[in-house]
Amino acid sequence: MDKDERCPCNTGEIYGSCCGRFHTGYSDPQAPAWPATAVELMRSRYSAFALMLPGYLLATWHPSTRPTELDLDETIVWKNLEIVRTEAGGPFDQTGIVEFVARYGLLGQREYQHEVSEFVREDGRWYYLDAVE
Ligand SMILES: [Zn+2]
Repeated sequence: MDKDERCPCNTGEIYGSCCGRFHTGYSDPQAPAWPATAVELMRSRYSAFALMLPGYLLATWHPSTRPTELDLDETIVWKNLEIVRTEAGGPFDQTGIVEFVARYGLLGQREYQHEVSEFVREDGRWYYLDAVE
């Protein structure tokens, strides 16, 4: 995706200064970048699903729950992300909760995923842990 295009995560920001900086920065020792909050991580993971970036998804998955590999479904077209609620998840918290609705199209049908996700911060980095609901 072009840096100047609208970010898939629905902030209304351009991709390069929204989720794009994490998608490139997470593995870049010269210009490292990692989300500072659980909700930023949530948004960047949604964008990574939309842009088919399994490497980023695995890197931001907590090692205790991370799958060994990730097969992204190319038939899913991610439409938008709505953040419903957040709890903690700030730069000085150890855990965070993000409730969201992600809408997508699949085989011409409108579908959605409503999830309450749990995040943990370790060594200054937020990770996706699991769905609690
Ligand atoms: Zn974004």
